[in-house]
Formats: sequence, C-alpha cells, structure tokens
Amino acid sequence: MMERKPQTTTRAVLDAAADRLRAAGIEPARREAEWLIEHVTGRSRLDLMTHPDAGVEAEVCERLESLLQRRLTREPLQYLTGEAGFFGHVFLVTPDVLIPRPETELLVEWILGRESLDHGVLDLGTGSGCIPVSVRLARPDVACTAVDVDGKALAVARENAARLGADIRFVEADMLDGGLADRLAGPFSVVVSNPPYIGREEQSSLQPEVVEHEPHRALFAEGDALRFYRHLAHAAVDLLVDGGWICLEIHADRGAEVVALLQESGWEGVRLHQDLAGRDRMVCARRGP
Ligand code: GLN
Repeated sequence: MMERKPQTTTRAVLDAAADRLRAAGIEPARREAEWLIEHVTGRSRLDLMTHPDAGVEAEVCERLESLLQRRLTREPLQYLTGEAGFFGHVFLVTPDVLIPRPETELLVEWILGRESLDHGVLDLGTGSGCIPVSVRLARPDVACTAVDVDGKALAVARENAARLGADIRFVEADMLDGGLADRLAGPFSVVVSNPPYIGREEQSSLQPEVVEHEPHRALFAEGDALRFYRHLAHAAVDLLVDGGWICLEIHADRGAEVVALLQESGWEGVRLHQDLAGRDRMVCARRGP
C-alpha cells in the first residue's frame, strides 16, 4: 500500500515563508508571506488565518517556492502577482510600467475636484494608465487621453482600460516632442503628469526593488532632474484651454524649484500640495488667459 505523504499545513508554509523573508530583511515579512500565499492558493487572508491546519498541496508549495525565490532577490511583490491596487481598482502591472504609488492618488483626487473638466484630461507618461483610468471610472463623462513614449507600457495601459471598462484614447508619443499639441485633439481642461524625476545621483539610495526592477525610463530624468518640468512649463500652455490646469507630481525635495519654474513661466495660482505623509508631492497651476 502506498503511504500518503502528510500534507504541509497552511501555518507551517506561512511561518517558513515569513521567516525567510524576515531573514532577508524584507518587511513586513508576515504580510508579504500572506500576500504570496493568497496569490498562489487563491485563498483569502481571512481563510488563511482561520484555517491554519488546512493542507497545502505540493504543487502549490512549488509555485510558492519559485515566487519566494524571486521575492528574495527583491523583485517587487506587485510584479510577482502582476497586480497593484490604485484608487480602489486593481491594475495589471509588468516590469514595463512603474508600479502605481499611493501618493499618486492625490493627483486623481485633485483632478476630480475641478469645477470644469469639459475639455477632458490629458495624462503625459501614463505608464500603467492608473491616472486616466481612475479619473474616467469616477467620471465617465470626462474624455481622457493618455500618452506614453513606450509602446509596451501603452499595451499594459490599454489592457487596464479594457479590463476595467474605461474608455480612454491612447497615443504613443514622446511628451518632450515639440509637435505634441498638433497630434492630440486638444486643448484640454487638465494636463496631468507624473514624469520621471529621479536624478542619477540618487540611484544608490533607492531600494533594490525600485532600481533593479522598475523601468529606468519611467524613473530617471537623465542629465537634469527637472528636464520634464522645464519642458512642460512651456509646452503645456498650448495643450490647455484658457484657465485650464496643469497638475504635476514632484520629487519631495523639488517643490520650491518647480513652483518657481512655473511662476517664472507665467502660470497663475501656482500651489504646492503635500501628501498624507506631509511631504511635498504635487504642484498645480492655472493657465492664464
Ligand atoms: N503615470 C504613471 C504613474 O503615475 C506612470 C508614471 C511614470 O512612468 N513616470 O504611476
């Protein structure tokens, strides 16, 4: 008679995974372990906690092991599961797009608070499409256009829009391209962007998850950390209606510089906003008549 191998329990799998993550300095280790196990088993966190003695099949353990190995080499959890939460929606993410950050939700909230969005919203450097998709799902009457220079990123954004049921116009183009206004059916009520803003000198201080796995083209502003802001301070004027708004995510240390840049370029009502952690995170300004 064949002997049945005793199955590993949920508790044992969870404890072992959490211990290995903790030993590698990956925190919160237990929560990360739960996320991975939720992903491979399809069970909820509540189910994992309330049924710690439930068996885990060998095949599931193998899949978990391969994900754990990747997480131990600092691959971001969101690339392992292929998903990231943003503004209450689940977005697909691949290493071709930046993982949407909670701070960026501030831009969406601010846009949704505008009095008029009649001429639509233009997102420059859309990545996963998290900004326009979230705007459109909250306001299905607002036309949204999303631009990205990277065709692979745009494919992810398109898939997100399709899966979440958001009707968005996508355009593959470089936001630094001088002829952008002619290619887009503007002018718009709002131009929003979370452009690359990290200087190369900061690279060594970034988490390995970020610097070794996220797309450098989406993170780093080569040469001049403010190059996208300098360009948009001029170029966005032609993309906006009179009284239209520009809304830019910024590096927490660059608030004063971006404010000065927009003021010098003739923008009105320039305002610096903080995120929930109290760090400078967004600059918004109005186009004069
Ligand atoms: N707009 C996307 C985001 O906010 C991508 C930004 C980027 O790639 N720099 O996540």
